[in-house]
Amino acid sequence: MPDLIHKSLLELRDALAVGEVSAEDAVSACLTHIAATEPQLNALISVQGEQALAQARAMDAQGPDASQPLWGVPLTVKDILCTKGVTTTCASKILEDFVPFYDATAVQGLKKAGAIIIAKANMDEFAMGSSTENSAFKTTANPWDLSKVPGGSSGGSAASVAARQCFGTLGTDTGGSIRQPASFCGCVGLKPTYGRVSRYGCVAYASSLDQISPLGRSVRDVAALLQAIAGFDPKDSTSVDRPVPDYAAAIEAKSDLTGLRIGLPEEYWGEGLDTEVASACRLAVDKAAGLGATIVPVTLPNTKYAIATYYIVAMAEASSNLARFDGVRYGLRDKDADELIEMYTSSRSKGFGDEVQRRIMLGTYVLSAGYYDAYYRKAAQVRRLVRQDFLDAFAKCDVIAGPASPITAWGIGEISNDPLKMYLLDIFTISLNLAGLPGMSLPVGLGADSGMPVGLQLLGPAFAEAELLATAGVLEAACPPLPEPTGL
Ligand code: GLN
Repeated sequence: MPDLIHKSLLELRDALAVGEVSAEDAVSACLTHIAATEPQLNALISVQGEQALAQARAMDAQGPDASQPLWGVPLTVKDILCTKGVTTTCASKILEDFVPFYDATAVQGLKKAGAIIIAKANMDEFAMGSSTENSAFKTTANPWDLSKVPGGSSGGSAASVAARQCFGTLGTDTGGSIRQPASFCGCVGLKPTYGRVSRYGCVAYASSLDQISPLGRSVRDVAALLQAIAGFDPKDSTSVDRPVPDYAAAIEAKSDLTGLRIGLPEEYWGEGLDTEVASACRLAVDKAAGLGATIVPVTLPNTKYAIATYYIVAMAEASSNLARFDGVRYGLRDKDADELIEMYTSSRSKGFGDEVQRRIMLGTYVLSAGYYDAYYRKAAQVRRLVRQDFLDAFAKCDVIAGPASPITAWGIGEISNDPLKMYLLDIFTISLNLAGLPGMSLPVGLGADSGMPVGLQLLGPAFAEAELLATAGVLEAACPPLPEPTGL
């Protein structure tokens, strides 16, 4: 069934539901394509081929289950989400052999909906990075051009979906890690409101910013994934007890953008923005206006402090979260060490990569007694102002639009030795995490110079996922669909 992998998640789901395709066919098609593409793509850390096939066969023996909206659909998940009995490495040597004895709540949600997890996707170590080059195991290529990065930190997830290795995926977004790789690989990625999706079983990077996020090849595919993972979970004290809307119904209910006010923040459309990105995004905004939306100027004045604020908060939380990897309770231990302190230091020095060590050191510094007030407390205060910017802007508009990244995917190795430069490229995505709000990236075309995908971000007020998806659905129908990636 050669064309099976080219179906959208929903097309496949519908074919599975009526028995036109078996779950085994769907899984085999993905595994065959993984075998053909993975040597060049390197999107996956581990593939659960036999397990997935056995599960598919067992499901086929029972027949399609109409109560399971993702019945038989093969998916990948980022290797930061705990999967029962399957290694969960966070792309780190320190967790190379870690096998969780439980599923993350979001993974459980996918399984309950009938999905089959076929592989764990590559990522930047502990989700720290914007290019997936910080993985301890491999560098993922962009399926549009194998010499370029897929974005990060959920770059393996995005590449696996864009390359048709699977029909959808889950990643995490702490400062843009679902929206930016979605943009670089021509996919749709949605970062939900903080608390919408349980973080239980997601290995923590920066707990107050992390959010598990779906990524797919269309708005409707992403809505189906979000539907399976959203909702209250008593196991995560930050998860919010609030009804989950019917996302697919919200998309179907909207056919134009009449009455919608789209805010364009001056800070997202000016200096530093590449012209090919600006023009592709502008074209999409013009289409939105043609469909009835009103375009209003807004301002997010504290954007200039967002990078500094984000990196202080994120590194502080990371230094605390990663303290648990001490060579005793989890993962790698240096067995040659003679005494306890030497064992801690050498296990952590050998187990963590350079970027993770850099962040642990900086995070420890900003939390230290002499510097806490100057850095961490100040960052917490500015974070509040960044959030206030959004609240003020949403008094004037319903949705904010801007590019996901100032440039399209860059070359592998091009900036990996300049961490500060890479941090600065997160400028359009990180404020949203500081504010805890939802946002998505929608592919709106290919850059005129690079030929690489460009993503438009749509940002909304808290719990506006349904409105964002509905707006994106209308825009998606109006933008010519991207061709399949050409790099493989
Ligand atoms: N690039 C950002 C960082 O390195 C965001 C990563 C993420 O969202 N996980 O922290």
